[in-house]
Amino acid sequence: MMPGRISNWLRGEGEASLDQLRAARDAAEAANEAKTRFLANVAHEIRSPLNAIYGYAQLIERGEGRDALAAARVIRRSAEHLAHLVEGLLDIAQVEGGAMTLTREAIRFPEFLDQLVAMLDLQAQAKGLALVLERPERLPEFVHADPERLRQVLINLLANAIKFTDAGSVTLKVDYRNELATFTVIDTGIGIAPEDAERIFAPFERVGGPAAERPGVGLGLAITQALVHIMGGEIRLDSTPGQGSRFTVRLMLSQPLSPPSEPAPEAGAVTGYVGRERWVLLVDDDAEHLAVVRGLLEPLGFQVSTASDADTALALAAQSQPDLVLCDVALGDDNGWEVAAQLRRRHGAALRIVML
Ligand code: ADP
Repeated sequence: MMPGRISNWLRGEGEASLDQLRAARDAAEAANEAKTRFLANVAHEIRSPLNAIYGYAQLIERGEGRDALAAARVIRRSAEHLAHLVEGLLDIAQVEGGAMTLTREAIRFPEFLDQLVAMLDLQAQAKGLALVLERPERLPEFVHADPERLRQVLINLLANAIKFTDAGSVTLKVDYRNELATFTVIDTGIGIAPEDAERIFAPFERVGGPAAERPGVGLGLAITQALVHIMGGEIRLDSTPGQGSRFTVRLMLSQPLSPPSEPAPEAGAVTGYVGRERWVLLVDDDAEHLAVVRGLLEPLGFQVSTASDADTALALAAQSQPDLVLCDVALGDDNGWEVAAQLRRRHGAALRIVML
């Protein structure tokens, strides 16, 4: 409002009062201070991992580091931290500079949600958490959205929920009514104190206490909020410390009037292959893995043989040459690499082997 009035005044279109000039100056000064604080934070965030890399690299160079592997690990983690920071800063720069443009695509809504949850499932499982997708039976098959940005928002919130929860569950609840989509990410984690609820959305703001011990750079929520606003939506937080948090994102996602003429192909909708019939040899000591891969390949027309140990695998391959071998690295008492080496010796360089 204010800068517009001032520029009108500069163009000679009406006169700004002294109060308006003061307010404009205060706003400019506040923005400048915020920028200085932001840069100081960036410098601080860069300095600590950089010092770690520098220090540990020097120790290795001098041959003083007793445990080079541990040093390499610190260096890798610090480099990862810096990479996250750079990615986050680039996102913020794009949003702030108004350079972020949204695409508008008809996305398959239910599948989009399933895939999103599948992406984070391992992360949740690794912490012993249940990751739940709660959605109404009937969701529109297609909605208009920028899939990449919408995914980024929901992944940020879900990844945070997993990070700040040590026991219980993380739920993504989705509702859709009158073109208004409501996404709620609910966790049973450490929660956020009311006095921190606002500032955690600002860049580099992280809450002290247990949260500070978890990795992160404090840009995720700032980017998430900016993206939600660019998409014309709103984000809110309700939390009870010690009990959990609930982030709610509301977005208008319109439905295409008619299904898109060329709907996006369904994920994994491969139905077969062309050419002669191919023979795949699966080598794995886990019967369930064998069954899963067989179940994927046979419907596509592949001929599949399975072996659960090295001897069986070598015997099967001796009967005739497979077109492809999928071989587990750890084969119980046998070594998958050894099996691969023997197959390679026997069948030559042309045999395709994928180690799993
Ligand atoms: P980061 O996760 O990298 O620290 P964010 O901007 O994503 O940065 O989050 C900022 C801070 O907000 C976190 O450091 C944490 O203190 C708090 N926070 C975010 N999500 C949650 C959550 N689900 N539960 C508890 N605290 C959270």
